[in-house]
Amino acid sequence: MAIAGPAKSEGDLLTRYTEVCERVDRAAEKSGRKCSQVLLVAVTKYAEPDQILQLVQAGHRDFGENRVQQLLQRAPMLDEQVSRMRSMGAALGGNPSSKHEPIRWHMIGQLQRNKARQVAEVSRLIHSVDSLRVAEELQEVGLKRDKPIEILLQMNCSGEAGKAGCPSPALLHVVEQIHSMIHLKLRGLMTMAPDTGNPEDSRPVFGRCRELFEDVLSEGMVDKSFNILSMGMSGDYEVAIQEGANLVRVGSAIFGETDHSGDAEA
Ligand SMILES: *Cc1c(COP(=O)(O)O)cnc(C)c1O
Repeated sequence: MAIAGPAKSEGDLLTRYTEVCERVDRAAEKSGRKCSQVLLVAVTKYAEPDQILQLVQAGHRDFGENRVQQLLQRAPMLDEQVSRMRSMGAALGGNPSSKHEPIRWHMIGQLQRNKARQVAEVSRLIHSVDSLRVAEELQEVGLKRDKPIEILLQMNCSGEAGKAGCPSPALLHVVEQIHSMIHLKLRGLMTMAPDTGNPEDSRPVFGRCRELFEDVLSEGMVDKSFNILSMGMSGDYEVAIQEGANLVRVGSAIFGETDHSGDAEA
């Protein structure tokens, strides 16, 4: 992905971002795919608003949030920035480009019931649907919309107790139920591997999720729009891509480790 020459003061962030982009591209090519076939979602839970803005100005459009509060605060703010960039671009007679596309927000954290409507309004894709209860809540919300809500089913592929996600044995049943909810569109699966510090430990978990993804396809329960496999974070996104991920969620490798959001959380 080409980026216009970064200014010195932005160097750190844009250098890290460029490196992640390059590593995503290389991992995609190594696994026999084009780099355009793997989507990088920049996870902003560790980011300052102006860091997000820098990536927006560099042309990045897919951002992930795991906190509802922060998503609802940031989405309108950044949308306004983008429309400002768009009208400035138009005033200068520039051509519409990717820089003027709206931001696509990905909700990747646990969904609170009472926030489902607001989250659905601002999100392009909700990765964290992990039970029929949550799906039903969103189906209710979807009733009042003209487009279905696009979701991923979050899987617990490692079998860890107490971990978020649908247990593997329940997968086909849950997919069948969600398929009957006409205000939802199930676009694929999402999973998280245990964080051990060694990316190779994630490999079997990602491999398992890939198999489950294939199972759903071979059961013929879904259509062509079931095509997203969201797995891999800063520590293991290359392994995830090798195991078949076509969407990776990367936060700290781009924005650094500091969590700026703690005090925003009521
Ligand atoms: C925080 C988070 C990420 C990104 O984590 P990093 O290790 O900072 O890349 C990805 N997915 C989910 C669900 C997260 O909560």
